[in-house]
Amino acid sequence: MKKLPLHLKILIGMFLGVIFGFIMMQVDGGKSFTIDWIKPLGTIFVNLLKLIAIPLIIASLLKGISDLKDISKFAKIGGRSILIYVGTTIIAITIGLFAVNIAKPGSGISDETIATLTETYAGNSSISSKISTAASQQQSGPLDFLVDMVPSNLFSALSDNGSMLKVIFFIIFFGIAMLLVPEKSAKPIKDFFDGLNDVVLKMVDLIMLTAPFAVFALLATVIVSAESWEIIVALMKYTSTVIVGLLLMIGFYLLLVGLIVKKNPFWFLKQLAPAQLLAFTTSSSAATLPVTMERVEEHLGVDKEVSSFVLPVGATINMDGTSLYQAVAAVFIAQALGVDLTFGDQITIVITALMASIGSAAVPGAGMVMLVIVLQAVGKFTPEQIAIGLTLIFAVDRPLDMLRTTINVTGDATVSMLVAKSLGKLHDPKPKNWDDNLENL
Ligand code: ASP
Repeated sequence: MKKLPLHLKILIGMFLGVIFGFIMMQVDGGKSFTIDWIKPLGTIFVNLLKLIAIPLIIASLLKGISDLKDISKFAKIGGRSILIYVGTTIIAITIGLFAVNIAKPGSGISDETIATLTETYAGNSSISSKISTAASQQQSGPLDFLVDMVPSNLFSALSDNGSMLKVIFFIIFFGIAMLLVPEKSAKPIKDFFDGLNDVVLKMVDLIMLTAPFAVFALLATVIVSAESWEIIVALMKYTSTVIVGLLLMIGFYLLLVGLIVKKNPFWFLKQLAPAQLLAFTTSSSAATLPVTMERVEEHLGVDKEVSSFVLPVGATINMDGTSLYQAVAAVFIAQALGVDLTFGDQITIVITALMASIGSAAVPGAGMVMLVIVLQAVGKFTPEQIAIGLTLIFAVDRPLDMLRTTINVTGDATVSMLVAKSLGKLHDPKPKNWDDNLENL
C-alpha cells in the first residue's frame, strides 16, 4: 500500500467505500451509523479543500500575473481560454443532443413509471427548492452578470466561496496595478504572495494524503443515501445516454490532448486522475479546484501564468459535463411527457445550456437548477410539466452529477493545456518528490 501511486490509493478507498456502503444498507442501523460516524469524515475533507480554495486562487493568480512581463499577454490568455471554453461547451451540448435524439430514452418510459416517480417525489423539498432557486436566478437583467462580477466589498466576497468570480476580478485588477507601480513597492507584495502560494500548495498535498480515507467516507455516504434502486434501474436508458455522451466528450478531450497538445492522452489521464477521482466523489468542481490546480501545474507542466487564470475561471464558467447533461435531460423530459421539440427548440437548448454552464455554481446539484431555466426557455413546458420533469430525473441526479463534475474538471484541465501549448507555456512537469507519499515527508 505504501508505495502505491495516489490515484490507486484513492481508487481502493472508493471501492472499499462502495462495498462498505452496500454492507451497511443490509445491516440494521447501518445507514444511521454511516451518517453519524462516517459521513463527517468526508465532510471535513471537503471543507478543508474549500477552505484553501480562495487563498490558493489569490496567491496563485497574483503570482501568475506578477510573473508576466507585459499585460497584453494576460489579455491573450483570457481571450483564448474563453473562446475555447465556449467552443468545447457547444460541442458538449451537440454531443448530448445527438445522443438523446438517437437513443430516445424518454420514449420508452411508461406512464406507470412516470406516475410512480411523480408520486414518490411529490412535494420533495429538494426539488421545489431547485425550482425556486432557478426562479430567483432568472429575475436578473441582461448585464447583471457583469455587475455581479464586481464586488463592492472585498471581505464579503472573500468570505463566500460562491463569489469566486468577484475575487478573481479583484486579484486581476490588483495584479495589473502591481505591474504598473515601481518594482520597489511591488516586490514585498510579490514575495509575500509567492511564499503564500508555496505554503498553500503544500497544504493541498497534505490534505490529499488523507484523500483515500475521505473518498471511502464520501462514497459510503452516497451509497447509503441513494434513492430506491428499482427507480434507478427504471431510468437506466436515460442514465446510459448521459454516460455515453460524457464518454464521447472524454474521447474528444483526449483527441485534443493527443493531436493539438501532442501529449500522450493516457499520460494526461494518469496525471490528472486524483483530481478526476475527487471530482467524482465530491460532485463539486469548486471543492476539487485546489487539487486540479496542483495536478495541472506540477504534474502536467502548465505554467502558472496560464493555469492560475484558466482553472479558477473554468471551474466557475466552463461546465461541459453539466451542459451535455442538460441537453440530454431536457430532451428526455420532452420525450417522456410527449412534448414535441422542433429543430429551433433544440437550438434554444444549445444557447440556454451554454449560458447555464456559465451561470451554474460549481457545487453538487447546481446543474439541475439551471435545467429548470433551460426547460423554461424552450417555452413548451407548463410549470407542472417542469416539476414532473425534475421528479423524473431526480433519482439519478447524484450519480450523474458525480460523472458530469468529472467531465467539467477534465475539460478545464484540457483547456489549460491547449492555452498553454498555444502560448508556449507548457513545460516538463516537475512533481515534488514526496507529493503523493506520506512516508517521504
Ligand atoms: N456539480 C457540478 C460541478 O460542480 C455542477 C453540476 O452539474 O451540478 O461541476
